[in-house]
Amino acid sequence: MASVLVPTVCPYCAAGCGFFIAVQKGRALGIEYMPDHPVNEGALCSKGNAVLEILDHPDRLRTPLRRKGDGWERISWDEALDLIAKGLGSALKRCGPDSIGFLSSSKCSNEENYLFQKLARSIGCRNVDSCARLCHAPSVVGLNRTLGAAGMTNPISDIANSKCIFIIGSNLAENHPVLSRWVHRARDAGATVIVADPRRTHTTWMADTFFPLKPGTDVALLNGLAHVIIKEGLVNRSYIEEHTRGFEDLVAAMVEYTPERVADVTGIPAGDIVRAARSYAKSPASVILYSMGITQHTTGTDNVQAIANLALLCGQLGRKGTGVMPLRGQNNVQGACDMGALAEFYPGYKKADDPETIRLFEAGWGIEGLPLGKGFAATEMIEKAAEGRLRAMYIMGEDPASSEPCSQNAQTALKALDFLVVQDIFMTPTAKLADVVLPAAVWAEKDGSYTSTERRVQWSSKAIEPPGSALSDLDIICRVAGRMGLDFSYPDAESVLAEINRLVPQYGGITRERLDPHGLVWPCPDSCHPGTPILHAGGFKLDGGRAAFVPVRYRPPAEPISSEYPFILTTGRVTVHHNAGSMTRRSPSLQKREPDLFLEVNLKDAQELDVADGDEVTVASDRGETVAVARLTDGMKRGVVFMPFHFSRTNILTSEFTDDEARIPEFKVSACKITKRD
Ligand code: SF4
Repeated sequence: MASVLVPTVCPYCAAGCGFFIAVQKGRALGIEYMPDHPVNEGALCSKGNAVLEILDHPDRLRTPLRRKGDGWERISWDEALDLIAKGLGSALKRCGPDSIGFLSSSKCSNEENYLFQKLARSIGCRNVDSCARLCHAPSVVGLNRTLGAAGMTNPISDIANSKCIFIIGSNLAENHPVLSRWVHRARDAGATVIVADPRRTHTTWMADTFFPLKPGTDVALLNGLAHVIIKEGLVNRSYIEEHTRGFEDLVAAMVEYTPERVADVTGIPAGDIVRAARSYAKSPASVILYSMGITQHTTGTDNVQAIANLALLCGQLGRKGTGVMPLRGQNNVQGACDMGALAEFYPGYKKADDPETIRLFEAGWGIEGLPLGKGFAATEMIEKAAEGRLRAMYIMGEDPASSEPCSQNAQTALKALDFLVVQDIFMTPTAKLADVVLPAAVWAEKDGSYTSTERRVQWSSKAIEPPGSALSDLDIICRVAGRMGLDFSYPDAESVLAEINRLVPQYGGITRERLDPHGLVWPCPDSCHPGTPILHAGGFKLDGGRAAFVPVRYRPPAEPISSEYPFILTTGRVTVHHNAGSMTRRSPSLQKREPDLFLEVNLKDAQELDVADGDEVTVASDRGETVAVARLTDGMKRGVVFMPFHFSRTNILTSEFTDDEARIPEFKVSACKITKRD
């Protein structure tokens, strides 16, 4: 019997690689590559190649569960839905809608994120957010304010057309491996590559110039580049006059960022800053790629705005090979934001504190009394749960007990809730704290659309059935909504997408039938529109059609080192794992390659600490301590150490300080100390 090839999209990073699942007799037998895919051209990285390993994993949740003493009792869906209606309903009745928090998932489809936030808001609750808060919330705030659209401006494949590629705060060679192929292609065609990162990573191997800057000094570096460009008259005058506002304010604010002063702050030689500024400004097509090294700071929004300022100064936008490219982490983090799974926005980035937004969605959903105003962000939900202001939570596909900073505090806060329901594919550390656990389908077991980091909306088709009585997240949300007295009669994902087409202008023409074979790129306002691979080609969707310069000042990270905690801990990803690791750490071929938590330490620092490669060390911060295996390297700056965040023990250490606006934690800078274990 021949196998059927079902087209799908990789559920790990947001590069959005496509491939086929070969299915025979209802089983996923293997992967077939998709050579005509516009992003990965048939290639997959190690995570993509291993993705089927988790489908039949014995840890998959197969039936709804209720907490019973220290253990779990299997229950029917009917019983589970009764418990949820009772748990959420009781908080609603006793303490009002603001006492409930809804945490949505960037792993889930657009349709699921859309319905999840609709469920929250339909019962009057403003507190709906997603894990986008922990990765790219500053991109949403900063890019909306400066450029008027919170998305990557140019397609991934367009990187190949660039002549100067500036990568800051992104280890894309490990985190978006397939995407780095396009950087290599540009380099082979003569592009200059500049990489700024506190750590020498695999990405720096492709750099012509490497800036090992001090963690948290990105604004100083970016302003220093702007200073040189302004001082040397390398700005694009006609572009600035035609397309921007606020230039004079920026010029005034950049005066103090001389290369010498910036060299003092960042540790990058002044001459290198001048040369990089000239390369970026003079190249006919320059692009800036960034990721969580930029966003996960108390200055995350400022960092993003400083990047946009640089691109606007030189008119490096709206053309082939140019742009500002935030590289999103999880497969559908762009889509979760687009769909309004954010405390500040309804779908389509309609402001939650604008009465017009409420009127629009009340009419569109046929519901009165939708909540006006921003809700609690994911990080604030944890704070409010600890304070007793949040009494119940519904968490879909997220693991805040592992991924929140100072994770032991997050666990205590979740335990303090009167009621917690978690819907997931595995029993995560968060699910272990729940009153009710619901078994969900993985991406291959359901239909739906996903929006990659380049704003490409792709349809992923159901290939196989979920295990046991697990259901798609969409099906579960509809059942919960029904039990809460709402009419969520959506027969399938396609019918939800049809509603999205009506209410989210960017997705107006992104209908199911137009998504084969490789999707459409938003904004795509109507059914005849071809999609918009390059943003801002014809100007900006801001007041007067002009982008805004937003001058920002350098501020040091919130938590300084001290004599007690003399090292800066920075966290990030490794090639073979993803986010909190619930999937990749259950994938045998990946887990074998990176089985445990490690700490990268500079060779000279290690010598002073009397630590050898492979020694166990205790890493402690003001919040707690954990054990890791030391990995000695000359790729770390002295005084800086690195730990991957795929192991739940990492966030015991991380700082709870957040960016004032985007409310993202400063995962990239925490003060710590290291001691060798006996
Ligand atoms: Fe999946 Fe990202 Fe790897 Fe592509 S690069 S195969 S999307 S993890």
